[in-house]
Amino acid sequence: MEEKIRWGEMNRWELEQRAKLVKTTILPIGSLEQHGPHLPLDTDSFDAEYIVEEAVKRLDSPKPVILPTIPYGVSDHHMGFPGTVTIDPKTLEDIIINIGRSVIQHGFIKLFILTGHGGNEATIKTAARRLKKETGMDVYMDSFDLMDPEKKELIESENDMHAGEFETSLVLAVREKLVDERTVPKKEMNFPDSKLEFEHEPEFSFAWNTHELTRTGVLGDPTKASKEKGEKLWDAGIERLKMRIKTVIDLERN
Ligand SMILES: [Zn+2]
Repeated sequence: MEEKIRWGEMNRWELEQRAKLVKTTILPIGSLEQHGPHLPLDTDSFDAEYIVEEAVKRLDSPKPVILPTIPYGVSDHHMGFPGTVTIDPKTLEDIIINIGRSVIQHGFIKLFILTGHGGNEATIKTAARRLKKETGMDVYMDSFDLMDPEKKELIESENDMHAGEFETSLVLAVREKLVDERTVPKKEMNFPDSKLEFEHEPEFSFAWNTHELTRTGVLGDPTKASKEKGEKLWDAGIERLKMRIKTVIDLERN
């Protein structure tokens, strides 16, 4: 029988046995938020779960265990568009803390968090500090920035931050049917000043609402997206994540 990798599919005895062999558990976190008129609302959650699962499949036994994905994230900046469901940073922080406290009690001393949504990152860092302080747990954090080298090479559009060329390519590669080609919007962004554009490493930053920067809800240019780009991005990203998780697992043997 194939080795189980999802926490929820294991029975209590199987989980107890696995915790004796591997001390790492992985938590994907996503969001439920508008992704332009053309991408599904659960894009970040699906993508986070997908990359984690594919990376763990490529690892040798004994494999780390994947916790169920947190399907909601901190998305208040997308509330100007239909479909977004947001939770407060404090709520997400508490959910992560509660999950961490529980899994460490069952023998998993390392938690690897992969977020599919950039808006969760600050909260994940705060939660990680708290978990370290309160439980001694080692928390590792990663995001889709792990595809940055390939993104630089393949993605042509500027300020490609949300539902643009990058994210649309990723969805085309794994859930093509859910991309509504009829509604893929043209590039349309309106930054308050060019100094604040994401593309040019802003000289100083600001808290923004998506609807203030773009009427379409898209940051970037999804018309330049392709399935081929998406496939290349996924393959490189999955491999890199696999290596990073392996690094964390190997730390256990020191
Ligand atoms: Zn997204």
